[in-house]
Amino acid sequence: MITGKNYIGSQLKAGGTKILKTFNPLLNTENPWVFTEATQDEIEEAVALANQAFASYKNYSGIEKAKFLNAIADEILALGDDLLVQYCTESGYPRGRAEGERGRTIGQLKAFADMLTEGSWVQATIDTAIIDRQPAPKEDLRKMLTPLGPIVVFGSSNFPFAFSTSGGDTASALAAGCPVIVKSHSMHIGTGEMVASAIIKAAQKTNMPEGVFSNLIGDGRTLGTSLVKHPLVKGVGFTGSIKGGRALCDLAAQRPEPIPVFAEMGSINPVVLLPNALKKNSQKWATAYAGSITLGAGQFCTNPGLLLALKGEELNDFTEKLDQAIETIQPGCMLHPSIYADFNNGIAKIEEQNGVSRIAQFKGETTPNHGASTVLKVDGKEFLKNAVLHNEVFGPFSILIECENEAELIEVISKLEGQLTGTIISEENEIESHKGIIGALQNRVGRLIYNGVPTGVEVCASMLHGGPYPASSDSRYTAVGIDAVYRWVRPVSFQNWPDHLLPAELQNENPLQIVRTVNNKLTLSQI
Ligand code: NAP
Repeated sequence: MITGKNYIGSQLKAGGTKILKTFNPLLNTENPWVFTEATQDEIEEAVALANQAFASYKNYSGIEKAKFLNAIADEILALGDDLLVQYCTESGYPRGRAEGERGRTIGQLKAFADMLTEGSWVQATIDTAIIDRQPAPKEDLRKMLTPLGPIVVFGSSNFPFAFSTSGGDTASALAAGCPVIVKSHSMHIGTGEMVASAIIKAAQKTNMPEGVFSNLIGDGRTLGTSLVKHPLVKGVGFTGSIKGGRALCDLAAQRPEPIPVFAEMGSINPVVLLPNALKKNSQKWATAYAGSITLGAGQFCTNPGLLLALKGEELNDFTEKLDQAIETIQPGCMLHPSIYADFNNGIAKIEEQNGVSRIAQFKGETTPNHGASTVLKVDGKEFLKNAVLHNEVFGPFSILIECENEAELIEVISKLEGQLTGTIISEENEIESHKGIIGALQNRVGRLIYNGVPTGVEVCASMLHGGPYPASSDSRYTAVGIDAVYRWVRPVSFQNWPDHLLPAELQNENPLQIVRTVNNKLTLSQI
């Protein structure tokens, strides 16, 4: 049952008077539930509780935190069908997507639990003392990663499970030992409340401290701003627009004590289509790209929004086939009328620029909030001159840049803003004669894909989901995979510390049996 209230730790509270409602884009009607925005007092209480919880939670063992994360996964599953129905009602996504995203979310939680159980992620590094070193003795120094403190998480519109209430940011921050306060996304507050109830139940069942998790309802500009400015908050996770992410980065930097904001924002994900690949497999790639551009109504941060190719017969053949393939795919429902309106306005704005023509658009009937998939075209020279053409259009959209030659194609890539992904479609060995393209692409992106599509982000340790700004606010970190935990920790060194007072990870006996670096060698051994 949806209560419409905030979780301040385990307490449901709604002392405020301002309300919010969510929208069912498929039915094109407002949903019935009424959600009460958190008051300033409730915000204060949630942050104070998180800060109090941090004092003990930061010392919980990996095994204890792993039990908590596994219990969250179990409680989410226990919500069963009701949760999936709520997700679909507030997002317009089909049931299959809800199931898939729930599976991914549970998989993420379990992956962090496994990481905690194994324990070596803390990067314990030990340099033992050399008392008789000349001219001065060497001290005993031991270093490991420790949690930052309470973290605020802003979920995204397009992933109500995997990048929201119990998504990667929350799972990685809780794994690190940081309490989490979620600013519930305004488009799926009911889904957020149900997932929050699962986290609270899991916290109670595994004896976590009160305040380790809170879920607050409210508008980004009031609630979100208050949270980011709060002196007890020590870090922020964000997934969404460049405008929103940048506003939060600036706000955090202006605090008396600046804090890190790990924002995953916009990306148009360039795809280079080389001529031999198009000549040999134009149908295969047209079908694959029509599918990738329209997947999830194009509402993926890895959507291939920019196709780059050399002018020629092969490209003309590919664009014809892409048009035919787009026509066969019924548009999906977008998340909200505002996102649908932004999509249409974005296309209109690009279409009115010099030299832009349309090469593919779904021409069948569409119902409200279903965006007609569109591919536009412009030549390399115009693209280089006009920054408007570089803007992301969030939805089933892509623009093809027809380049005169390889030099122009490389120049286009080097003028792009930072991107999450870059893809090369090539016949075997074809890329060997276009090595400049690889170098240019690698400079601008976080993940390089060979003969594939950028949509579909595997959750595993070797995934890098981030990239140079504005793809993310800090290209050194990933938002997906277990390495996401490193956003919420800082290293601390202990010098000449008595063994029994050290954290277990750094004690001589290596009681947790973790891999450590001792005197510059990786080892499981005791000292
Ligand atoms: P968003 O509008 O940036 O919102 C994400 C979260 O941040 C929401 O909870 C929002 O709160 C909050 N927020 C936004 N601006 C804020 C500000 N200035 N101060 C404080 N909080 C703020 O992103 P979204 O909802 O995921 O998507 C909306 C638009 O973002 C799309 O139309 C699309 O153009 C763009 N976008 C999203 C993604 C993605 O991966 N999610 C990727 C590319 C582009 P409120 O909703 O309460 O304001």
